[in-house]
Amino acid sequence: MKDEYDVIVVGSGPGGSTVAKEMSLLKKKVLLIEKGGDIKKVGNLVSSVLMLNRFGLTRSLENNWVVSAATYGGTTNLAAGCAIPPPEIIFGPHGIDLSKEAEEAKDEMWITKLPDDLLGKANLRLLEAANDLGYNWDKIENFIDPEKCVPDCSKCMMGCSKGAKWTARVFGDEAQKNGAVLKLHTTINRVIVENGRAVGVEGKAWGKKVQFFGKSVVLSSASGNVPILKNTGIDRAGKSLACDFLKFVGGIGKGINTTKANPMTVGTLEHYESDGILLTPVFHSWSTFAMHLLLMSPKRLPKFFNVWKYTGIMVKIRDELAGEIHSNSKFSKPVTKKDNDRFNKGVDIIKKVLKKVGCKEDSIFVSEPMGAHPSASCRIGDVVDSNLETEIENLYCCDSSVFPEAMGLPVVWTTVALGKRLSKHLNSAI
Ligand SMILES: Cc1cc2nc3c(=O)[nH]c(=O)nc-3n(C[C@H](O)[C@H](O)[C@H](O)COP(=O)(O)OP(=O)(O)OC[C@H]3O[C@@H](n4cnc5c(N)ncnc54)[C@H](O)[C@@H]3O)c2cc1C
Repeated sequence: MKDEYDVIVVGSGPGGSTVAKEMSLLKKKVLLIEKGGDIKKVGNLVSSVLMLNRFGLTRSLENNWVVSAATYGGTTNLAAGCAIPPPEIIFGPHGIDLSKEAEEAKDEMWITKLPDDLLGKANLRLLEAANDLGYNWDKIENFIDPEKCVPDCSKCMMGCSKGAKWTARVFGDEAQKNGAVLKLHTTINRVIVENGRAVGVEGKAWGKKVQFFGKSVVLSSASGNVPILKNTGIDRAGKSLACDFLKFVGGIGKGINTTKANPMTVGTLEHYESDGILLTPVFHSWSTFAMHLLLMSPKRLPKFFNVWKYTGIMVKIRDELAGEIHSNSKFSKPVTKKDNDRFNKGVDIIKKVLKKVGCKEDSIFVSEPMGAHPSASCRIGDVVDSNLETEIENLYCCDSSVFPEAMGLPVVWTTVALGKRLSKHLNSAI
């Protein structure tokens, strides 16, 4: 039956679930499609590995590790909960102002600064040490409900078992309460186009071909959009991408470690506009440390036995657009010279802060680059216009893939704001 739905949304991360929620609130018939399942009991190693795309083993052709999730709620399930509003320098040049939508999202996503007991003693010491050195560190907002969060837990990135961290499931659940239909374990491969208009999607569920029809299609499957668009005739998709490369820098000192400190609750954006870097305390969990050492630098495996002693700070960079996502989902994503210059600047500052809190120079560990935000592969101004519509009428993208360049920042708040903005447009368009 044609036109069964008003909106078909592919991918239930922050982009997709926001569109599903907003459109269902507007009484539109919404179908939300997700290739992953719905793991209920989260917050442990097994659930976090099961939620990861390819069990977390995704690497670029250059061997760079890039992490994302394939589950209901997308990668927000594994996020640290750090909330940074949409940066004007990224969207302003494209005539996009997300400030109103970001403000609307703030309460809905439980965004607030956590009280000191939830920030963690180690984080507060790092903040003080950095400021003593003349840097400008502060508390950072999080999408975490302080009433439900517990001190010294720090398991946000395994999925929050307390329900304290906002995830896109909150919006997906709300959409379902408003009548939206959720189809899990369903992977979309292409968009069905008739007379230049998107009229549906085709894919597989439990090994069987499926088709769904609707008045508009929103692709919110992040890097997953690229093969779908290529199979639909939009070959430009996936020509270069960003992934906000990061490095964890850890040091060992007496009386301090960040093992139990809630991640990314303090830090600084003072070098963001000038040098494209964000600095914030967070380090590998024991499981990702083991995986990192095994995958990236097996010779350093003995370092694993110190995992509980590290005080860790992350440098995240605005990486250069580079590489390509291919139709077979293999991808290339090199670390460029400019990326390395940015890393070096961040690592130098972090080393000073770690030494200030008593970490010994010879204990300092610098990880290989990793990507946690595969993005900017279906960019505004290239694959989609400023309304997020592709060259095919009624076919939109709405997720981190539309970023015009690397954000180099936590992306969830921005992605939700984009979802709200697109929903306003869709409401007038369909
Ligand atoms: C460890 C970690 C910590 C992070 N911490 C933070 C943080 O503190 N703050 C922050 O803002 N950001 C954080 N991020 C980043 C953030 O979670 C993601 O970048 C964000 O969720 C991206 O949103 P998205 O909608 O673009 O894609 P995703 O959240 O990845 O959602 C895409 C969804 O589409 C589905 N999908 C893919 N292909 C298909 C297909 N063909 N058919 C159907 N469904 C499909 C996927 O299964 C997935 O559920 C973190 C990321 C990681 C890995």
